[in-house]
Amino acid sequence: MQAKPLGPSPFNDDPSAPRVVVTHGEDAYHNALKALSAFDLSPAKGKRVLLKPNVGRNADPGAGVTTNPEVVAAAIDAFRAAGAEVAIGESPISGVNTMEAFEITGIAGMARERDCPLIDMDERPALALAVPDGIAINSLRLCPELMEFDIVVSIPVMKMHMHTGVTLAIKNMKGCLWRRSKVTLHMLPPVEGSDVKPINIAIADMSGVLRPHFSLIDGSTGMEGLGPSAGVPKKLNCVVAGVDAFAADAVACRLMGTSAGAIPHLSLGAERGYGIIDLGRIKAEPENWMEWADPFETPPENIAIDFPNVVVHDKNSCSACQSTLLLFLKRYSDKIFDYFPSDSEVHFAIGKGHEELPEGTVCIGNCTSRHRGCGVFIPGCPPVGSEILTAISGMQSTDVLDAHRESKCDPDKDKQGGQSQI
Ligand code: SF4
Repeated sequence: MQAKPLGPSPFNDDPSAPRVVVTHGEDAYHNALKALSAFDLSPAKGKRVLLKPNVGRNADPGAGVTTNPEVVAAAIDAFRAAGAEVAIGESPISGVNTMEAFEITGIAGMARERDCPLIDMDERPALALAVPDGIAINSLRLCPELMEFDIVVSIPVMKMHMHTGVTLAIKNMKGCLWRRSKVTLHMLPPVEGSDVKPINIAIADMSGVLRPHFSLIDGSTGMEGLGPSAGVPKKLNCVVAGVDAFAADAVACRLMGTSAGAIPHLSLGAERGYGIIDLGRIKAEPENWMEWADPFETPPENIAIDFPNVVVHDKNSCSACQSTLLLFLKRYSDKIFDYFPSDSEVHFAIGKGHEELPEGTVCIGNCTSRHRGCGVFIPGCPPVGSEILTAISGMQSTDVLDAHRESKCDPDKDKQGGQSQI
């Protein structure tokens, strides 16, 4: 069955000058409720409303990785008060069980208290969604629930993102793409004539057909630095609500100390007319909202920068493997040199696009399996950090020393004769 693009927002009565409301305070629930109550939600009466928080990972509430359950609770209460039937849905990143993520993040407990249904959007078969104006992609595989609800509300948590600059209301809609089909957005070839990362062009493409009808951005505790999961929690005590997801994201960007114009998926989408990011055209309230801005630290250009003698080869990986590697390095970087010659660099590879890699490279994730004979291969999609250390510590010292030559590994030769270390 073919899916259709999401229609225009029924709450946006002036698309040329969309409203965005920012609230500030310690209590995330009341903050979010106050932001929601600034809008006329009556178009939701008698409708089915799908709340799409960020529950893409297993993380504790308050860690800044997933949406604060209190913000989602306010959305349930506000849309129910407007006469809507409400449910919460998510399709998390590869390797994460949706229902487990709902439990760990505190969303399930909150939903039980309110008797609000939770939907594992990966359970049923996908629908195909054409992206007629797409540049990097021309179709998507969509979770079927998107076609069964009248209104979709994007409820992201405010985070910096190592691939996409920020992840907010537009990017959060990637969690409506079915199962592993999300990963394909990280594996795209470069777009001819463009130096923009293909993932960012693809998200702009996606926003042409999958714009939420309402956005509620949780800035109670977000994440700065190495987002989306290996950064540092950042308390901002803000909630941003808006009828145009681009406008809401633009205001959130300003609060985070960046500009939507500097975020490729937002600037590309706005250029195509999918939404407004020009703060001069957005009706943002209250007047003093910018006083609550507190710049978020940006992600480093090179993820290995904090880890001397570590070289990361990253080609077309997705954030799941990046996070695995980062968390591994944070936890075990002092241990890995027990297993490698002290004067050498340790090479790690993630992602699918490598032609060749140095001998001895630690290849992480199924995407690197072609190079498994080059050094150590840790299967998984993504693997668990502790498995990397187990694999490295299981290497024989002669293998390690032999591996640390200046030579490059030829995966085709290794396919015939090389052997994986595990
Ligand atoms: S192996 Fe890693 S980079 Fe490849 S799809 Fe899985 S999580 Fe993403």
